[in-house]
Amino acid sequence: MPATSNIYPTKQLQERDAAHHIHPFTDTGALNREGSRIITGAEGVWLTDSDGNRYLDGMAGLWCTQVGHGRKEIADAVYDQMRQLDYYNTFFKTSHPPAVELADKLAQLTPPQFNRVFYTGSGSEANDTVFRMVRTYWDLMGEPKRKHIIGRWNGYHGSTLAGTSLGGMTAMHAQGDLPIPGVHHIAQPYWFGEGGDMSQEEFGLLTARELERAIEEIGPENVAAFIAEPIQGAGGVIIPPETYWPEISRIVKKFGILLVVDEVICGFGRLGTWFGSDYYGIEPDLMPIAKGLSSGYLPIGGVMVADKVANAFIEKGGEFFHGYTYSGHPACCAAALANLKIMEEEKLVERVAEDIGPYLQKSWKELGDHPLVGEARMVGLVGALELVPVKGDRSKAFTPVGDVGTLCRDISFNNGLVMRAVRDSMIISPPLVISHEEADMLVERATKTLDQTFDRLKRDGRLAA
Ligand SMILES: *Cc1c(COP(=O)(O)O)cnc(C)c1O
Repeated sequence: MPATSNIYPTKQLQERDAAHHIHPFTDTGALNREGSRIITGAEGVWLTDSDGNRYLDGMAGLWCTQVGHGRKEIADAVYDQMRQLDYYNTFFKTSHPPAVELADKLAQLTPPQFNRVFYTGSGSEANDTVFRMVRTYWDLMGEPKRKHIIGRWNGYHGSTLAGTSLGGMTAMHAQGDLPIPGVHHIAQPYWFGEGGDMSQEEFGLLTARELERAIEEIGPENVAAFIAEPIQGAGGVIIPPETYWPEISRIVKKFGILLVVDEVICGFGRLGTWFGSDYYGIEPDLMPIAKGLSSGYLPIGGVMVADKVANAFIEKGGEFFHGYTYSGHPACCAAALANLKIMEEEKLVERVAEDIGPYLQKSWKELGDHPLVGEARMVGLVGALELVPVKGDRSKAFTPVGDVGTLCRDISFNNGLVMRAVRDSMIISPPLVISHEEADMLVERATKTLDQTFDRLKRDGRLAA
């Protein structure tokens, strides 16, 4: 463990947190009564809290810590960069070595149509950039009516105005009177929850064809782009049926709209390929990236811009009145470069595809036999367990939705494993460096958690007889 001894009593930290800190995606009133869990240190896949408890970080922070916590190489690279050039902007005809080097590196790693990046500070900002870039692109192409963007219900593209609007989280839309006009949503390819009696293949086609229907309804001459995650992350690790992406690609090509593939979670090895687009064989025109780009060590994101779009801006765009003070921040670029270097040197993408991915998938999928689990699914190192009241019956869910997931998550924390609850499914997305032994511990702790949750529900009479 690193020498991050915690000198403050937990209670005192919790009180000051409650007094002065409004948390993201949190019922602050409830949290303030309960008290936050204070994390004081981390190394590899392990977190330590202010009372010295250790947790296996099954979520890699928030889906981002690909190379694990506490990597000295990244800390050193950031330190060196800050000593050399702490900050300078990339506006007004200036650049600096780390921004140049990272852009070049990203052009190499991403699919061949991508040769340029627009830097942002986060995934949300990347999607705000997408929003303005897409609309401006069609203006430049002489088709200014093409302003409508189609996303998906239960998709997640961040929490800014454009991110929230493009995403399909209704609870988020309700706060701030969103989405922005001109954004539409179609059904998600969530077979387990919404597929009814259909086969996965049929359901994949049906939900993809919703895009065609939406385009025809809005008028093909008015549609600018479709945006989607390869696998929905925050929506509950929704892995689309195999028929889904090929059909989406066909429709996108048929109508000539732009395809935006949000790689903020799937990018940088999560699926055992550099990008989710590689995994599914998709050809996006724009690719928002963030999270795994720097393993979360410092905030950085970007939009990969395909030549087709970049050339329109370069040849006839004039000035794009858009950018962030921290676009291409030197220290953040240095962190990203050091992170990507580790990923390449340790062959983490190959490791997910050939070694630890298949290893964890095997035991994770065996959790599908548990009486509380309706489905266990995983691609690469991102997976979910659907908790159900009646095993073998996909039409039955717990009511109210979400209670059981929260209960299971809290039990998991007590068992020293961080899993995330989305509705009543449990999500994992561990660091790509997780060892076989740690993967075994993850599954052991998840099993214990499922057993305890099951017993609790049985005792409370919440399971079918
Ligand atoms: C997390 C996430 C975002 C938003 O990224 P932030 O860095 O939190 O702004 C966007 N898209 C997807 C798919 C994400 O998972």
